[in-house]
Amino acid sequence: MNGPAISSQTLATKKEGYRHDVPAHAGLLRLKGPVLGFGGYIGRALTDAIFPRKCRACGAYWPHGSQSSSSHVDHNPDLQAGDHGLCNIFHRVALPFLCSDCLTSFEPVRSPLCERCGVMFKSPVGEDHLCSDCLRQPGAFRRARAAGVYSGALMELVHQLKYRACFVLLDPLGQLLQESFQLHWLPGEIDMVLPIPLHARRWRQRGFNQAQMLVDAWARAEGRSTRDECRFPKARDIFVRSRPTAPQTGLGKPERRRNIRGAFKVVDRAAVKGRSILLVDDVYTTGATAEEAARELKENGAEAVDVFTIARTMPTLDRMGRKENGLVNNEFEGRE
Ligand SMILES: [Zn+2]
Ligand SMILES: [Zn+2]
Repeated sequence: MNGPAISSQTLATKKEGYRHDVPAHAGLLRLKGPVLGFGGYIGRALTDAIFPRKCRACGAYWPHGSQSSSSHVDHNPDLQAGDHGLCNIFHRVALPFLCSDCLTSFEPVRSPLCERCGVMFKSPVGEDHLCSDCLRQPGAFRRARAAGVYSGALMELVHQLKYRACFVLLDPLGQLLQESFQLHWLPGEIDMVLPIPLHARRWRQRGFNQAQMLVDAWARAEGRSTRDECRFPKARDIFVRSRPTAPQTGLGKPERRRNIRGAFKVVDRAAVKGRSILLVDDVYTTGATAEEAARELKENGAEAVDVFTIARTMPTLDRMGRKENGLVNNEFEGRE
């Protein structure tokens, strides 16, 4: 008598490059009985019992091999060509960590968006253009982009990393940064990648700077055997947080700007002079932190400063680029 059969679609999906992303014990119950033999079947059932797959976002356990990596990407008519790139990247890197429902909750950052700050416009038609905030006050950084909207499973993964020190998520998130970066920037546009620094006191309290760890994970994902010290230098020798700041939670944009003013310091001017720098953080909320960090780098001779985050909160903008409602999903905004 045969055991549970594996579907041809599941096999095809695995053949298309997902197999090595899935933990060794994944999908084993779905293999045919005669291939494994009775002992193998029992052994693998035991492995599944000992190492069940639990979704890192919602905590649900799911049947092995039940995810369809193509369902959301291929069958969602709302997605445009560029969105598929981001969705595909997210699905590939997050597949071993999320159930099907959470995989499909990913929202890519899609055009039309503000050319500078990256906020999405409500209407899905039209070209990228400046939002009203950026028209009024261009600011210090050149442009900000994110891999996804700060919602659903992506928001939960960021929380797991930042507040629960779930470091197993560093590699997939580093890969997400590395691959989605190539969709937003041209080769050679960025000379140096720096994390948003954390003050030493906060660093001691938490034990790590998630932005630094994400940059380290990105550097690993570049696949170089030795770290490219020019592109990924030792950030603490160049750019630091010189002043501790109160948590930004619950503050509006003007208060956030005042709170963060003068918080950063370039300690090696020669290292930033004339360079195009990419600042990396986990979440972009109002942009106050990125703006202040970029201002300090520009004042010390940086040629250009861009900002790249895993996720971005998205207020809803009308066609004119005005906010229709406040920020969404900002329960944790500004927590450091
Ligand atoms: Zn889930
Ligand atoms: Zn803007």
